Amino acid sequence: MTPELVDTRTPNPKTFIQGATGDWEMVIGLEVHAQVSSKAKLFSGASAEYGGEPNDHVSLVDAAMPGMLPVINKYCVEQAIRTGLGLKAQINNYSVFDRKNYFYPDLPQGYQISQFKQPIVGEGIVTINPTPEENIKIGIERLHLEQDAGKSIHDLHPTMSFVDLNRSGVALMEIVSKPDIRCADEAKAYVSKLRTIMRYLGTCDGNMEEGSMRADVNVSVRRPGGEFGTRCEIKNMNSIRFMGQAIEFEARRQIDILEDGGSIDQETRLYDPKKGETRSMRSKEEAHDYRYFPDPDLLPLQFDQSWVDEIESSLPELPDAKKDRLVNEFGLSAYDAEVLIAEPKFARFFEDVADGRDGKAAANWVINELFGRLNKEGVDIDDSPVSSSQLGAIIDLISDKTISGKIGKQLFEIVWTDGGDPNQIVEERGMKQVTDTGAIEAIIDEVMAANPDKVAQAKEKPALAGWFVGQVMKASGGKANPQAVNELLRKKLS
Ligand code: ADP
Ligand code: MG
Repeated sequence: MTPELVDTRTPNPKTFIQGATGDWEMVIGLEVHAQVSSKAKLFSGASAEYGGEPNDHVSLVDAAMPGMLPVINKYCVEQAIRTGLGLKAQINNYSVFDRKNYFYPDLPQGYQISQFKQPIVGEGIVTINPTPEENIKIGIERLHLEQDAGKSIHDLHPTMSFVDLNRSGVALMEIVSKPDIRCADEAKAYVSKLRTIMRYLGTCDGNMEEGSMRADVNVSVRRPGGEFGTRCEIKNMNSIRFMGQAIEFEARRQIDILEDGGSIDQETRLYDPKKGETRSMRSKEEAHDYRYFPDPDLLPLQFDQSWVDEIESSLPELPDAKKDRLVNEFGLSAYDAEVLIAEPKFARFFEDVADGRDGKAAANWVINELFGRLNKEGVDIDDSPVSSSQLGAIIDLISDKTISGKIGKQLFEIVWTDGGDPNQIVEERGMKQVTDTGAIEAIIDEVMAANPDKVAQAKEKPALAGWFVGQVMKASGGKANPQAVNELLRKKLS
């Protein structure tokens, strides 16, 4: 069903691509397949779990045994509604399941049950931030429920192919965007944002390596702000990075053809990440006629608005709202807030640390120290050796001046490797900051006595006092209160 195409974007020179004959602009629309997080399949009770032995998760319905009838999984319907609400979309209380007919060995029914003319979710909006300053609205055309197909395996035997029906009948949400995306970075931001939203909602785990989320990417090029061009569709992208590369390659390929006086054939293409190029899979002429018609085994899907309202009232705080709140409530920069909302577990960790503390300090420690360290070591935040309460305790010790920021970093290292209660560690290892001016004065006197020439210089040039601060801090093992050191030194050197 090809909807009418409307251009909602003002051309942005930042996204233009230079060609030999002038500027070009990409137009991109995405069809994302998101697997519903559900224990059972869309029309059968078989397990929808990832993995398992081939054909272990196959009921008679999934294998299309004669006489078997599909029964809709209410939980999957609820997840589609939740996702629709998260996309601020129109929920259709009346929708229809259709048969999309084609032959393939891994499709035993001979058709896929999908939704065509009347999907469960209509138009919506996703806001993306390719950079913290940009707030771009990408239109959603529709979201519909459909079954996944099985998998053919051609590389296990020289003369035979195998079929694994574990995925046959697994519930997918197909989310179709409007052609509102204008460059690879926006496409990447869009897929990440969809994944973040669905992770907050708990409707899809967004695990692209396991195939829980795949994108078909439609790309065309045109003169900036001009008529839409002919699109090519790159199928089955399951990596955000490769999707970006595929888009860049494909746009350049099309521009080269057009600049040579050629024209674009509407076709389906595949991306080869090893070669870094797309190649044709089938042309429009070879495209299937799916002969869609309403599935006679299934009644139209109807539900009361009260159910939708109930689902809506149970939605968690969504990423955009959380971002605004982190900026307003904790005074975070848009950039920091963006980093923290990317995953529900990041936001949860941050909010635990920030609870009752300075938000900016908490964000700084979580993003720069903790995330930096987790990334470096390849550790998931769920397995972080430093818990939110341990990190909170470190921040408290710094803010009440028990330890300096520098000692705080050493303390973080100790907690990271050995664990333990930060308060106790500071106590036991004598890491407390020295604020006793008598003790600091004694160190200063010692340093000054050892460097009479420097003292004379510093009395002439107050800027040289910095050297003494460094020496005194060093002599105190980093434990002297820097503020006290500064004040005392200023007095003694004047
Ligand atoms: P089909 O099933 O034929 O691919 P859909 O309507 O399901 O059609 O999806 C079409 C996708 O292609 C949508 O995401 C839409 O925004 C996008 N699209 C349509 N026209 C263009 C175009 N000229 N350039 C880029 N993308 C386009
Ligand atoms: Mg398509």
